Amino acid sequence: MRSGSDYLAAIDDGRRVYVDGEAVEDVASHRAFRGVVETIGGLYDFAADPANEMSYVAPETGRPALKPFMTPRSREELADRRAAIAKWAGLTHGFVGRSPDHVAGFLAGFASDPSVFDVEDGRQLGANVTRWYAKLLDESPFISYVIIPPQVSRAMTASGCDGDYVQAGVVEETDEGIVVRGSQMLGTGTAVSDYLFVSCIKPLTADDVDHAISFVVPVGAPGVKVYCRRPYALGATSSFDYPLSTRFDESDALLVFDDVLIPWEDVFVCRDVDRVRDQFFRTPAHVLGNSQAQIRFVAKLSFLLGLARRICAVNQIDRIPSVTERLADLASLAALVEGMVVASEASAVENARGVVQPNPRFLYGAMGMQAEIYPRFLHIMRELVGGGVIQLPSSYKELVNEDTAPDFARYLVSPGMQSEQRVQLFKLAWDAIGSEFAGRHHQYEMFYAGAPFVAKGYAYRNYGFDDALAAVDGFLARYSLADAVAEEERVHEQA
Ligand SMILES: Cc1cc2nc3c(=O)[nH]c(=O)nc-3n(C[C@H](O)[C@H](O)[C@H](O)COP(=O)(O)OP(=O)(O)OC[C@H]3O[C@@H](n4cnc5c(N)ncnc54)[C@H](O)[C@@H]3O)c2cc1C
Repeated sequence: MRSGSDYLAAIDDGRRVYVDGEAVEDVASHRAFRGVVETIGGLYDFAADPANEMSYVAPETGRPALKPFMTPRSREELADRRAAIAKWAGLTHGFVGRSPDHVAGFLAGFASDPSVFDVEDGRQLGANVTRWYAKLLDESPFISYVIIPPQVSRAMTASGCDGDYVQAGVVEETDEGIVVRGSQMLGTGTAVSDYLFVSCIKPLTADDVDHAISFVVPVGAPGVKVYCRRPYALGATSSFDYPLSTRFDESDALLVFDDVLIPWEDVFVCRDVDRVRDQFFRTPAHVLGNSQAQIRFVAKLSFLLGLARRICAVNQIDRIPSVTERLADLASLAALVEGMVVASEASAVENARGVVQPNPRFLYGAMGMQAEIYPRFLHIMRELVGGGVIQLPSSYKELVNEDTAPDFARYLVSPGMQSEQRVQLFKLAWDAIGSEFAGRHHQYEMFYAGAPFVAKGYAYRNYGFDDALAAVDGFLARYSLADAVAEEERVHEQA
């Protein structure tokens, strides 16, 4: 099994990751990334330890692989996969959204039906998908993805953009492969991942055919440029002051492709609008990838709930009925999401290819509300913590400076809690709900699976309204206007 040090060695590949106008020489040791690199390395080390029961023998290869990358073919396997994803999510408390198990879910879904990628009387690219999934199972690479066109104008699709290839597309097909030019958003984790999956999940028209592509490319491939947003670890004074920013800032980036040659064996779809859509929705890819996201979200809400409860206890407000009511609001929201994950597994559905996938009604039901649940969670937490997350020393240094430390020891305490512990707790809360890192998480939970209207669209299309409509129609059929008239006449007759 891959170790953390294997991962660290692999990402030292001359990739072009830009921060503050300069190419980063070594992402693993750069202050912006080293915390999250250590965290991802820790996930691999955890999974490599047999005691943690993270591996199984994959039927696709006959060799050991990581359970979070599994294609579940029974309820038991689905539960096993969920438990393994939950263990990884527990290590980051859900603050690393695109850990290596996210895109792996998509690849598992693709590979479960390679025929989707084979064109009748045309290219047979399904074998590439099968090979890539076997590589994932054998080598456990960290794959990130960019499947959204850059935000230029949402009133048009790729072909409408001024200038060629603003959105990534194929400029040339050669014997060796395709040449890709353009940009795509928003590579979470790409700066520190091994490979990048590139495609487009937004609907494309026939005019956009050059942009209807799907492939995997090494992040270090010539011509790939990773333009990171501001890394939060750079503004963090210490891991005590910013415990989450310094450990879990997975980074997000605009990806630019400067005529990147993608060998044919790494291409899944080339110039095919229908197949680009079908890969996500005619296979279980979207469901498997997003079920990872929901399992992770459960871990995050549980952590935040614990944080809120602890703070209320420290401030001794936890016996006030209006406060317990707010904690109950948080508990209810966390339980709702967890319940949806459990429900999606309990009512799992088997597809024609024998893949047992979480029931989309419950999976997308949770996703459809996520853009409301998470901001509401943060809002209630802000209400509960009050100014405690602001009444803090500028950095840990005031706690160790002999002139200032006595004031904090005297004034920044709570019953049974000394200043060091109180500051530690409230700095953690600020990094979870108020820092720039927290603000990005607010945006992430609202947008990672598409804008809220997109997530609601999934919920709408996957609920399955038949029973609900039948119930209403059945009830309406039980009475009529004629019944009302007859009833009125009966009343008159009796009178
Ligand atoms: C922190 C973060 C991390 C991300 N990580 C990744 C990643 O790893 N990989 C990846 O591929 N993507 C990632 N994304 C990108 C994400 O998928 C996009 O943000 C998402 O698809 C929405 O696109 P957009 O942000 O351009 O919003 P837009 O599509 O521009 O929507 C913004 C708003 O405009 C309005 N709007 C736009 N179009 C319509 C319409 N047709 N109907 C109604 N209203 C409309 C809505 O109010 C909508 O909320 C990430 C996003 C964030 C914020």
